[in-house]
Amino acid sequence: MSNLRENKTEVIVVGAGPAGIACAITVARAGHKVVLIERGRFAGSKNMFGGAIYAKPTREIFPDFEKNAPLERKNIEHKYAILGETDGTVISYQNRHELPVSYTVCRGKFDRWMAEEAKKEGVTLVEETVVRELIVENETVVGVKTELEDYYADIVVLADGVNSLLAKQIGLRGDIEPKDVAVSVKEVYKLDKNKINDRFLVNDDEGCIYELFGGSMLGKLGLGFIYTNKESVSIGLGITLDEFEEDETKPYEYLDKLKKHPVIAPLIKDGELLEYSAHLIPEGGFKKIPTLCGAGVMIVGDAAMLVNNLHWEGTNLAMISGKLAGETAVVALSKGDFSENALNRYTEELENSFVMKDLKTYRELMDIIHTRKESFLKYYLQKVNSFFEMFTSVNSVPKRTLYWNFIKNFFKDRSLKELFKDAWAIIKLLWSIMIK
Ligand SMILES: Cc1cc2nc3c(=O)[nH]c(=O)nc-3n(C[C@H](O)[C@H](O)[C@H](O)COP(=O)(O)OP(=O)(O)OC[C@H]3O[C@@H](n4cnc5c(N)ncnc54)[C@H](O)[C@@H]3O)c2cc1C
Repeated sequence: MSNLRENKTEVIVVGAGPAGIACAITVARAGHKVVLIERGRFAGSKNMFGGAIYAKPTREIFPDFEKNAPLERKNIEHKYAILGETDGTVISYQNRHELPVSYTVCRGKFDRWMAEEAKKEGVTLVEETVVRELIVENETVVGVKTELEDYYADIVVLADGVNSLLAKQIGLRGDIEPKDVAVSVKEVYKLDKNKINDRFLVNDDEGCIYELFGGSMLGKLGLGFIYTNKESVSIGLGITLDEFEEDETKPYEYLDKLKKHPVIAPLIKDGELLEYSAHLIPEGGFKKIPTLCGAGVMIVGDAAMLVNNLHWEGTNLAMISGKLAGETAVVALSKGDFSENALNRYTEELENSFVMKDLKTYRELMDIIHTRKESFLKYYLQKVNSFFEMFTSVNSVPKRTLYWNFIKNFFKDRSLKELFKDAWAIIKLLWSIMIK
């Protein structure tokens, strides 16, 4: 391609989320020209998540971010709440790590901060600009079309998030199946800092994460969450899209019901609604990762379906995939080779990283959960709560009788055949996670 072309740069990155920014800054730090195009008014203006960013991968891109970035609270506690109709069992893990594992952030502020840092390192940021289409010549991606003008580059990196219409345009991705994507809704409630500290039992700069199972989502393939910010609390949930095919209930109705649950309601009581947002989460896992590169093009982050849904990890996979794609772009630029073969280095690096290794570890998870949903997301969740209901009851019935009643009910409510199927599913899952 001619270098004399107007608007020609070395690398174009589409999308200024964690993946795109990590990629662009990696290229710029190596001294190359990179244009980062974002459709939002500013980076982060269109982005939402739970959410927590993870310290270690963030440090790999921004070594001093803990000193400068707009962080909300460092998370010191994870609570796992198994919710029944009106009761709940909460398991908690607390650790005041010297170096925190994660921090809550507001994406509007945090992504904007990352983008400003990228600009300081030489990235050209073009905001309020939608990339409509990729420009393909001789089966090679050579640039992008925006509403206003065309930009050309040796390499285009697609960091345009879960929908990635651009990856679809060049056939690297197909349509997402409804079972492979979760619809998520979230609300942010303003709450006095001291109320947050008291309700979540944390100090001023400390945060607590709730992962919510069951409740309004009992029997559905969905999870809820609560994150504490400095002076607000985020609450939300995500349910796979296929659940809505035969269900009139809307995602926000599930959230409304969740907020009223007796275990949850006191946590957000008297909060003032600041914000409501909705977004999609890739849920397909390893089996749904598309081809990650083609001639002149690479795909990173959510656009490549890189989300570890069991651990609520997405931003870290996005940042590391962006960084690896950026490093591959630098190598390709040094050799002047932008072929699919050259860019395949990115796929290899990703396969050697925790990103692909973790997604591969959980490759069977979603299929197994889909087939045994009724068991794992309803029956056993209910049984956990009925066990504790029995265990904490004081009703003058001898304890041995209570235990035997619990066991009898367990087998009465579920046929042996179903129990065997569940046990087999667990063995298969553990085998795929731990062994092969
Ligand atoms: C409800 C919810 C909770 C989550 N919680 C967590 C959590 O706690 N921790 C965690 O690590 N992850 C979490 N995730 C996942 C995480 O948010 C994503 O994995 C991560 O944001 C992916 O980063 P990305 O840069 O690939 O995509 P995105 O963050 O989606 O960024 C894509 C960017 O591309 C821009 N864009 C899109 N199309 C175009 C176009 N055509 N032209 C120009 N710009 C374009 C968008 O405006 C956006 O800025 C959560 C997600 C959701 C929805």
